[in-house]
Amino acid sequence: MEKILISACLVGDNVKYDGTNNKSSLIDELLKDFELIPFCPEVEGGLSIPRDKSERLGERVVSEKGRDVTRQFSFGAEMAYNICLYLGIKVAILKETSPSCGVHEIYDGRFTHRKIKGRGYTTEYLEQKGIKVISENEIEDFLKEIRPEEKEESK
Ligand code: SF4
Repeated sequence: MEKILISACLVGDNVKYDGTNNKSSLIDELLKDFELIPFCPEVEGGLSIPRDKSERLGERVVSEKGRDVTRQFSFGAEMAYNICLYLGIKVAILKETSPSCGVHEIYDGRFTHRKIKGRGYTTEYLEQKGIKVISENEIEDFLKEIRPEEKEESK
């Protein structure tokens, strides 16, 4: 069965900065066709649960309290890619708007709740290395692509 790397919070692991998760209702659907490999780049990069909220500020990542956590984010991104390489993973499903996992949007780096176009640290790194990254908002379309019979039924 093909393996997919997935943000650990999307499968229900309590790894978010505030110790909660973002469990997706589509996990069971994904499990019908894929083996999911949950991964949290922030935790694997050395940050704790809970931890201060962080946002991308250009090439750096800073916490709400002004701590520079770029090194941890960078390490987490490299580890994510190493896992993909080791397990032959070609696709990752990551959590939109996260400073690590955001796919199309992230917060603007000023902690004002304003979203801007951009990618999280891990998303950017994986895409540079040729891994296809989609967000949790694109899972349904992704499943339709790999299950053409469902596409037909919905017509
Ligand atoms: S870094 Fe990614 S996997 Fe970890 S809690 Fe944030 S969005 Fe979820």
